[in-house]
Amino acid sequence: MRTGKGQRSSGRWRWLSWCFALLLVLLAVWPVRADDSVNFLPLLSFQVAPSTLVPPPQNIPYTVRDGETLFDLARKFHRPLHQMACALPRSRAANAPLNAGEVLLIPPERSVCHVMAEGQTLAAVARAYGVALGDIVAMPQNELRAPPYWVIPGQRILVPLPPEVDVSPWTFGDGHFVWPVQGPLSQQWSRRHPALDIVAPEGTLVAAADTGVVSWAGWDTTGYGWLVVVDHGNGYRTLYAHLHSIWVGKGERVVKGQPIGAVGTTGRSTGPHLHFEIRDYGVKVSPLTLLPTPSVYPSGDGVRAGQ
Ligand SMILES: [Zn+2]
Repeated sequence: MRTGKGQRSSGRWRWLSWCFALLLVLLAVWPVRADDSVNFLPLLSFQVAPSTLVPPPQNIPYTVRDGETLFDLARKFHRPLHQMACALPRSRAANAPLNAGEVLLIPPERSVCHVMAEGQTLAAVARAYGVALGDIVAMPQNELRAPPYWVIPGQRILVPLPPEVDVSPWTFGDGHFVWPVQGPLSQQWSRRHPALDIVAPEGTLVAAADTGVVSWAGWDTTGYGWLVVVDHGNGYRTLYAHLHSIWVGKGERVVKGQPIGAVGTTGRSTGPHLHFEIRDYGVKVSPLTLLPTPSVYPSGDGVRAGQ
């Protein structure tokens, strides 16, 4: 009797452990919902969701030519520079030079190049932009081959945007200006010349110093020549004068670093340079007090271009 009872009980235990093992197997292979994956594996997403965007986002393959920069491609494809960073291979720094002959996939127009934050999951990013995880995984630039999809903080993730997502763009500057052009200064800021004259060869790209809306793009009769003015919506306006050409229109939104034109010597100017002003609620302030110190401060010796 005792033995029989023991066998029955060990049989029950065996049956229970089989059930437990089966449960473990089920848990292991069950497709975890992207949202739940946040709870126990913060940087992994097991879900393989199909892409849902109609029409599918169009990447544009492009073979890099000798000497081309990401900036050149941003201009060519009318994409903000920060969006173009997602065209680079995952392992490459955003400011790394391009290799002639390499093929880059230019991101679709409606897309965002998102930089992963600390502890952020792909699922959270998908939710934030209102797209399916599968849409992000489907972008070849992201190099997310198979689940689990490892992502690390600082990694660039290209997020294609569905047509119905409202992408009313942010039009305000953050007040942290970038240099519109790199080059030696032929004229510093002074009361007589309340601007910087930055010397660069004709045709050099001029970048918006901060995000904003173009409030003037055209010929100026007072000596500025071809002129762009950007209103940053935060009290600051920046002014880019003597341009050779202008690539933005009045009312257009520009993003910090976006090419807006090319260096020229139009208007009252003695040689190719950018005459750059920053106006703080209308007051022409010294740009040097607001621009970051350049890593290489080019010498202005012998440079004469100005006004
Ligand atoms: Zn000047």
